[in-house]
Amino acid sequence: MTSKVSGIAASDGIAHAKAYLLVEPDLTIEKNEISDTDAEMKRLTEATDKAKEQLTKIRAIAAESLGEEEAQVFDAHIMVLSDPDLMDQTKAVIDSENVNAEYAFKQVTNTFITMFEGMEDNAYMQERAADIRDVRKRVIANLLNVTLPSPATIEEEVIIIAEDLTPSDTAQLNKKYVKAFVTNVGGRTSHSAIMARSLEIPAIVGTKDITERVSENDQLIVDGLEGDVYINPSEEEISSFNKKAEDYDKLKLEWDQLLNEPSVTKDGKHVELAANIGTPKDLVGVKDNGGEGIGLYRTEFLYMDSAELPTEEDQYEAYKKVLEGMEGKPVVVRTMDIGGDKELPYLELPKEMNPFLGYRAIRVSLDQDSIFRTQLRALLRASVHGTLRIMFPMIATLQEFREAKAILEEEKTLLIKKGVEVSDSIEVGIMIEIPAAAVLADQFAKEVDFFSIGTNDLIQYTMAADRMNEQVSYLYQPYNPSILRLVKMVIDAAHNEGKWAGMCGEMAGDQIAVPLLIGLGLDEFSMSATSILKTRSLLKKLDSDEMKELSHKAVTECTTVDEVIELVNQYVKD
Ligand code: PEP
Ligand code: MG
Repeated sequence: MTSKVSGIAASDGIAHAKAYLLVEPDLTIEKNEISDTDAEMKRLTEATDKAKEQLTKIRAIAAESLGEEEAQVFDAHIMVLSDPDLMDQTKAVIDSENVNAEYAFKQVTNTFITMFEGMEDNAYMQERAADIRDVRKRVIANLLNVTLPSPATIEEEVIIIAEDLTPSDTAQLNKKYVKAFVTNVGGRTSHSAIMARSLEIPAIVGTKDITERVSENDQLIVDGLEGDVYINPSEEEISSFNKKAEDYDKLKLEWDQLLNEPSVTKDGKHVELAANIGTPKDLVGVKDNGGEGIGLYRTEFLYMDSAELPTEEDQYEAYKKVLEGMEGKPVVVRTMDIGGDKELPYLELPKEMNPFLGYRAIRVSLDQDSIFRTQLRALLRASVHGTLRIMFPMIATLQEFREAKAILEEEKTLLIKKGVEVSDSIEVGIMIEIPAAAVLADQFAKEVDFFSIGTNDLIQYTMAADRMNEQVSYLYQPYNPSILRLVKMVIDAAHNEGKWAGMCGEMAGDQIAVPLLIGLGLDEFSMSATSILKTRSLLKKLDSDEMKELSHKAVTECTTVDEVIELVNQYVKD
C-alpha cells in the first residue's frame, strides 16, 4: 500500500524514480582479543585491497559523470591506502597487542589524523587528515561487511533520501541521474534547498523521518509542488502524477514565452527581477530564465569549493567571468559569508553553541582583514568588466559598515596608486538580515548606496526560529505581519534618502509575498533563477495601486499569517 510522507516543499517539480538511501551505516567497532594474528592481518589486507578496487571504480565513474577535477579526490584516497607506514604500523599493533584489525586500524589512523590536524597552518596536511578519515571509513566498513553509500557512482535514475545534505554533498549530485531529493531536516532556506532550486531538481526537506520510512529501491513519487512523497505508489497514482507533471511542464512552457519580456505589472510599473547565484557556472541558468541582473552572488562557495583560501587571481577570474557574462547588467557581489551552516575546514573556525549567532560573515572579514582585503582587491580589479555592486553581509551596526567601507576605500586607493584601473561607479550596500539594522535603516540609508533585504536570516532572527529547524517552521513564515512591517521600514528608509531597496532572501520569489512586496515598493527582486519567469508571469496580473492598498491593509490591519494569506488571495485571483 502506498504511504505518504509530507515535508516542506523546497524546490518545484515532480519526479518518479527509485530510492537511494544516502545514510551512513553504523561503523561502531569493538576491541577484541584475537589469537590468530595472521588471519587478522589477512582480513586487513583483503579489506584494503577491496577498498582500492572500490575507489578505482568510483574514480572512473566520477570522472565520467562529474568531471576529472571532482574525481581527483579519489586519487588521494587511493594513495593513502598505498602508504606502507600506515599498513606496517597497523600490522605491528595487531601483532604486539593481539587485537582485531578494525581496532588496530582505527588506533593507527587516529595517530596520523591527530598529527596532520595538529599542523594548523598547513592546508595540505589538513586535507591529508580528511583523506585518511574518509579512507578509514571505507576500510572499516569492509572489515565489518557493511556497504557505504557512494553518490558519485550513481548511474541510474534515483531519488536521494538523506538525513541532511551539506552544500558540498548537493554540489556532487549528478542532475542526469538524481531526479529529486528528500531529507529529514531543513527548511525552505537551508542551503541544500537553495541549491536544489538552482539545479532545478524537485526537493522536499524537513520530513523528520523519511530515512526511517523508505527502504533502498522503494519506488517513490516526489511532489515538490506540494511537499509530499508517495512511497510505492499505485498505478493510478503514478498516472495521476504523470498528468500533474505534464500540466506543470505546460505551465513552464507558458512562462518560457516571457523570457525576453520586461518585468512589468499590469499597469506598467517596472521592477528588476534578478537572480541569486553561487558560482559563475550558474550564469547559464540566469540567461535561460531571463534574469535582469545578479542580485546576490554568494561568494562563499568560491571559498568552500577549494581546499585552501582562493587566491586574489582565482577570485578575480571568477568575478570577471560573472561581470562579463552579464554584459553590463548589474551584479551585486556579496563579500564572503562564511559561518552559520557554511563551514570552511581550513579556516578552523571555532565550534560554537550558536553558529548562526556567532562568528560569521562580516564579523570574520573585519577580524581577519587580510582575507577580506584579498577579496576586495579582486573585486575592485574586476569592476572594470561590468556593473559591479559590492554588498556586505550580516551588518548589525553602522560602525561595522563604516569599517568595511573604509577598508574598501583603502584598497581602492592603493590599487589606483599602483596604476590599476578601478571603476569609479561601484555602488556599496548592505544586506539587511539582522533586525537591528532594519530598525536603524533610516540612519543606514544616509550612508549606503542600497539595501538588499536578506529575509532568510531576517525571519529567523526576528522570529527567533532557526531557518533549518522543521519543528519551528510554523513560525518561520515570511507573511508574519512583524516581518512585513520591518520590510516596509527598510524600503521606506531607502526611498526617503533616494536609494533603492532590493530583496535577495527567498521571500522575493515567493508567489504570495510578491504582491505584497510590489505594494510596499520594493525595487529589485532577487531569487533562484528558476523562479524568475513564474514571477514575471505573476507581475502581469498585478495592479500596483491595488497592491499598495493590499500591503497597507496587511501591515496595518492583519494580526496573523493566515489573515495575510487570506487577504492576498482576495486581491490576487487567477
Ligand atoms: C538571506 O539571509 O536572506 C540571504 C540571502 O543570505 P543567505 O541565505 O546566504 O544567508
Ligand atoms: Mg543570510
